[in-house]
Amino acid sequence: MQPLTDSWQQHLSHAISDPSELLQTLALPDNLLPAAQRAAAQFALRVPHPFVAKMKKGDLNDPLLKQVLPLDSELDQVPGFTTDPLAEMQSNPHDGLIHKYRGRVLLITTGACAINCRYCFRRHFPYQENRLGPQQWQAILDYIAADDSISEVLFSGGDPLATPDRRLKTMLEGLAAIPHLRRVRFHTRLPVVIPQRVTDSLIAALTQTRLRAVIVLHANHPNEIDSQLADALRPLQQAGVQVLNQAVLLRDINDDVATLKALSEKLFDLAGVLPYYLFVLDPVAGSAHFDISDTEAQTLVSALQQELPGYLLPRLAREIPGKPSKTLLTLD
Ligand code: SF4
Repeated sequence: MQPLTDSWQQHLSHAISDPSELLQTLALPDNLLPAAQRAAAQFALRVPHPFVAKMKKGDLNDPLLKQVLPLDSELDQVPGFTTDPLAEMQSNPHDGLIHKYRGRVLLITTGACAINCRYCFRRHFPYQENRLGPQQWQAILDYIAADDSISEVLFSGGDPLATPDRRLKTMLEGLAAIPHLRRVRFHTRLPVVIPQRVTDSLIAALTQTRLRAVIVLHANHPNEIDSQLADALRPLQQAGVQVLNQAVLLRDINDDVATLKALSEKLFDLAGVLPYYLFVLDPVAGSAHFDISDTEAQTLVSALQQELPGYLLPRLAREIPGKPSKTLLTLD
């Protein structure tokens, strides 16, 4: 793999967290600062430089900027938008473990993220209460070992790839010792926002295990996909790791057919990544301004279906608390 300059850890530690630095870097007006500071006091600003570099300077409507810039609208109280929209705390048998669906469990590997997406459904999640210390980790291994209906473990977060490779390797070794487990899946935005995250040691950890590894990226707009990301993913894919993408449908960011079409095509043509899910927004407090109704979403994806081959059409879905799986939204 062609080495990229600067390590992912350096990019993580130098991520922009001060709204005034973001505005200055992008040559945006100072009058945005008070609102950005108010909203960032509720959910911190965090955006790494490689992601900022994909934004257009001076453009308030940049679709990547809109995903990270804190706004006053986040402080609005909107009926139906809550702090735990997926009722995850009701499916939390152990600290750090969520068991909602038959056959798979989800690990809250870390509370850390490389980027704070303003629409994040876990923006209020009590990460402090879900730390994965050695005791919690052993309890989780025991829980999974005792239930042979579980075949897959999802590493989530936060962003699971914010975890050092050595620790991921140890966790994978613990899981691989459970005979009924067959797959591990990582839901991550990190390679999109810091492509340097795909290190040789990560590739080794994911491929030197008997468990089949799947990576589900999170990219919402074609501007997030570039040759740096494609170059970073290639060795991972060549080593046999399946890479998919899921996106969230976001008002004024990707809610038009041309943008969604370009996203699917660029993911596949440039990076060999297949679209997987397109989620409607989970109603988390602070994100109502991103929302699109299910009917609008269905109309949009029906039109998208006319434009793309079936394998490039993401599945439009919503997560409904208490349901045994994601709910697919039917198309006209
Ligand atoms: S990277 Fe994922 S978990 Fe982290 S803030 Fe964004 S959407 Fe939420």
